[in-house]
Formats: sequence, structure tokens, C-alpha cells
Amino acid sequence: MRSGACLLDPRKSAKLAFCPEHRGAPGRDTRDGGRSRATARQVSYTDMADAPLLLRILIIGAHPDDADIKAGGTATRWCAGGHVVRLVSLTDGRAGHHAMPGPELVKRRRDEARAAAAVIGATYDVLDHPDGELDDRLENRREVIRLIRSARPDLIITHRSNDYHPDHRFTGLLVQDASYLLTVPSICPEVPHLDACPVILHFSDAFTRPCRFEPHVVVDIDDVFGRLVDMLHRHESQFFEWLPYNAGHPEQVPQGDDDRRAWLASRMRERIQPLADRYRDAVVQTYGEERGAKVRLIEAFEVSEYGAPLDAAARSRLFPFLPPDSRATSPVARKRWVDMPEEG
Ligand SMILES: [Zn+2]
Repeated sequence: MRSGACLLDPRKSAKLAFCPEHRGAPGRDTRDGGRSRATARQVSYTDMADAPLLLRILIIGAHPDDADIKAGGTATRWCAGGHVVRLVSLTDGRAGHHAMPGPELVKRRRDEARAAAAVIGATYDVLDHPDGELDDRLENRREVIRLIRSARPDLIITHRSNDYHPDHRFTGLLVQDASYLLTVPSICPEVPHLDACPVILHFSDAFTRPCRFEPHVVVDIDDVFGRLVDMLHRHESQFFEWLPYNAGHPEQVPQGDDDRRAWLASRMRERIQPLADRYRDAVVQTYGEERGAKVRLIEAFEVSEYGAPLDAAARSRLFPFLPPDSRATSPVARKRWVDMPEEG
């Protein structure tokens, strides 16, 4: 049985949310994999209809660490506010190791991903498309349509469709191809269609062709960086084994757990720090001159023109932790499906 099937079975799709009332308190040490946290209970999204201020955030990556690497700090902020964050990997991660056999690695990475999500009180679903072999075939598009409809998210975050890794590209493309069809009843009629496509954002990246990433939303993660590191620390097979091996410096990985975490924190800081200076104008626009000049670590997101527009109202609803007077740097209006003259 496909391990990700529970996401996609419309008979089971209503029982997927994580009760925010039972999350561990932000800042608490969860290095035991979240096991010390209060017991969570599953609630349905129907229950959540009575709590309209709760957001449902769906972060779709290609691999079982992409969502947290690219948006884990911002996800921490949503979780701290009691919102429901669901991380998804479309592939099973079986190619992410130099020594461990695929089936064994798949189980290990699924456990690591769930432990990472538990750090902040989110959930992580790892689907079972073989790592390195994702494509845009019709059955995959239908699967993503069912996944998004079942989650009924207020916001989706995913990869752009220009990226070095084919799995990243196809994940972005599958979400893009699903976006309009989410609202079409005759497509995948077994799962109720959405009335409107939600806002879709893209993770930041440094690729320039055919176009550069634009930082429409920037989030200060300085004071939640430790939580992000705690999440990534759970992905032992990646950050302490495969990635150092693939980069040619496995000997740099410390032996002790505390030393490994400190090493990981240092490497992640080096990796993330350039973003704040690269997008300093957007940071200042968001946080004002004084704070904006001091922010050191950010996550940045670009608005997809295929989702709902991120206008001022949507921005303040979806990002309640941003300053209320922060200005959208470049909201993108949804394009018309056909080239029609402007109204009025
Ligand atoms: Zn990836």
C-alpha cells in the first residue's frame, strides 16, 4: 500500500489536522523528537470551521526536508500562533544517501521528517514517489489536486518551476498545473472542488533563468532560528551523512550530538545570512528602517501569479506576525485566464 495514500483517499481526507491547543510551547527543548510534548489529538477541518482565524498552511516540497529548509522558520511562527501547518514531501527521499539501501532510507527519512515537524507542532507527510523520478504525468497532477483539495489550505508554499533539481521543478509545475483545476468540479470529482484557488507562494532560490526570484514576502526568523536548527537536526541522514558526503567533506561532521547541532547551526547561518542583505530593501519595507536594518536572518517568498492575489488584506490575514503597517513589496495580481480588455 502506498504510504501516502491516506492523504489522497477522499473517504479519509477530513481527519488530517493537528490540534493547535496541544502543541508544545515555543522555545521548549524538544530534542527528544517531540516526545515530551503534550499529547496531540487529531481534529477535522470541519471542527475548525468554528475557528475562522486559524490558518491552514500547506508547504509542499519535493524531498523530506525541503519544506523545513526553505520555510521552517516561518512555519515556526505560524505554529506559535496556533495555526495549522502541514509539511509535505512528494517523493520518498530514497536517493538521498550514499550507503543506505532505498527502502531502509525511506523509512528513516519518514521518521526524521515527522520528528522535525513535531519540533514545532506541525505534521509531515512523505508520499512515495521515488526520489529523483518525479515527473508531470497526468496521474501525478490528479494526486496533487486531491491533496490540495483535501487540505483546503489558506496558503500553499512550494518550489518555483526553474530549479537545478528535476523533482523540485516538477513539484512546482504540478502545483502550478493544479491551481486552476482545483476549482473545476468535473476534474477529480471524488474530492470536493475549491471555490477559489488559495494564495500560492514560492520558496526563495538563486536561479536566474528564465527569471530571478522576487522577494514579495520576507519574514524575520532571527529569534526562531534555533527552532529551525532543531528541526533540521532531526534529519540526521541528510545533514550529518549524505549532504557532507555529496559535498566532499564528510570528515567535517563532528561526532557528538551537541557538537553536531552547533556545527549545523553555524552552516545554516552561513547559508541563510546572505538573503537578508540581498533583499534588504524588502526587509526595510516590511519592518521599517530601524528594525529592518538589524534583521540578520530571513526567509523570503515569491507570489505565484497562478494563485489568488496577495493583496493587503490577504497579506495581513496570512502573515499575522508581520508588522501591521508593513507594506507589500510587490503584490502580484492574478492574471486573467484569457487576454481580455480591462473592465471600466
Ligand atoms: Zn530537495
